[in-house]
Amino acid sequence: MELKIYNSLSGEKEIFKPIHEKNVGMYVCGPTVYSNVHLGNVRTFMSFDFIYRTLMHLGYKVRYVRNITDAGHLTDDGDVDNDRFVKQSRLEKLEPMEIVQKYTVDFHKVLDTFNLLPPTIEPTATGHILEQIELTQKLLDKGFAYESNGSVYFDVLEYNNKGLNYGELSRRNIEELFANTRDLDGQNEKKNPQDFALWKAASPAHIMRWNSPWGEGFPGWHLECTAMSTKYLGEKFDIHGGGMDLKFPHHECEVAQGKACNGTEPVNYWLHANMLTMNGQRMSKSTGNYILPMELVSGNNDFFEKPFHPTIVRFNFLQAHYRSVLDISNEAMVASEKGFQRLMEAMKILSQIVPSGAQESSFNINDWKEKCYAALTDDFNSPILIAHLFEAVNFIFKLKDGKEQISASDLELLKSQMESFVYEVLGLQNIEENNNEKLDQTLQVLIELRNQARKAKNFELSDQIRDRLLAEGIELKDGRDGTTYSLN
Ligand code: AMP
Ligand code: ZN
Repeated sequence: MELKIYNSLSGEKEIFKPIHEKNVGMYVCGPTVYSNVHLGNVRTFMSFDFIYRTLMHLGYKVRYVRNITDAGHLTDDGDVDNDRFVKQSRLEKLEPMEIVQKYTVDFHKVLDTFNLLPPTIEPTATGHILEQIELTQKLLDKGFAYESNGSVYFDVLEYNNKGLNYGELSRRNIEELFANTRDLDGQNEKKNPQDFALWKAASPAHIMRWNSPWGEGFPGWHLECTAMSTKYLGEKFDIHGGGMDLKFPHHECEVAQGKACNGTEPVNYWLHANMLTMNGQRMSKSTGNYILPMELVSGNNDFFEKPFHPTIVRFNFLQAHYRSVLDISNEAMVASEKGFQRLMEAMKILSQIVPSGAQESSFNINDWKEKCYAALTDDFNSPILIAHLFEAVNFIFKLKDGKEQISASDLELLKSQMESFVYEVLGLQNIEENNNEKLDQTLQVLIELRNQARKAKNFELSDQIRDRLLAEGIELKDGRDGTTYSLN
């Protein structure tokens, strides 16, 4: 079955053809690690996690690069003395690299909580300063950039005059862009307001700084993604993703940098994930309209009536297509929780059911499987896939009630497909099974501690462990092969 992907560059669904057969190079813009990621950020990374999982499930070998932006990201007011890291480090009284470390660790923890797979390469901007300096030099040499007061800017007008088309990704008309922007303070060191920094000179107060041919400074944000994607995926690669809000200017600038450097479109398929909203407004740190992922999971917030397990959040997010806006709400989460429980109940029934003969059934497993793959390969349509999974769920409940029959081979097929779609592709987790695993691990620790107490002849403690567990309905039994437990 052919995979169709909506390409932001063409504005159409296209048949996916990787540059190297069966191999996919995918780059996704990572977080700016100057504060905690909010739930909106998580949605975008989850959308690409689902896309990554789907590509692998379809048999592609994926090199998945997702960067960490740990330098060069200016504050919204564009104050060059105040990049986000420096500003936050002053607020928290930490070194900028302590800020980077703190929020990188937090980012990984959050994504792990929601069962996102790590990328295959996770490069940092600060680890690729040399590559960014080289790229800047290349753009200067080719006449696409100019130096001004120790900073280097990309010359957008020159790029366009050379017949390249600035604005092609975001479909913006350069004449309009120029007409609508004025240089308000009149002191800009740029030739045109649209020009963007490749390298920024650091003022004496700026802590994060590196040596360069143009003096001490730091790289521009757009450049890091071009530097790292080129290094690990080549001058032209298959897929570039990120949130919708990054299309302009960030991705537009990446296209311009790539084309100016190498004379070719850097990316074949541009994918943009849509936003998470709350109360109808885009979730964002700057407006205060946000919720932290762990606040949703712990229930420590004023928006939701109760805590929700991370896998319920994941299920809720994937019930929307990655290109649709998703408005988060308590009602929708409660509905997702109910749906998820029914899905898990069906999975349990499926693992226990016995085939009942080779009779014809009203539910054709092969047709159903085909429909699931049609959804998956139609621009990664997770909500349609989930709808098909629930057709199978209804059938499974009928099997349980003896209203339907299934042959041994059909049962095997249904089981293996359901497991692949639910756990591998959607990345959902069986909460009950996980809890059982945790309980087992905890009891093994207690048994070990009781053994140590007995060895030390501290029978008071060892008996206490046994008796307290018994009071909770857990009976320890000492046998020749060690201690086992049973739950009453
Ligand atoms: P940042 O760390 O600000 O660069 O954002 C990391 C990613 O989260 C980017 O791909 C953004 O497009 C994405 N993002 C930011 N806000 C939202 C939101 N409300 N919903 C979904 N994705 C978002
Ligand atoms: Zn980027």
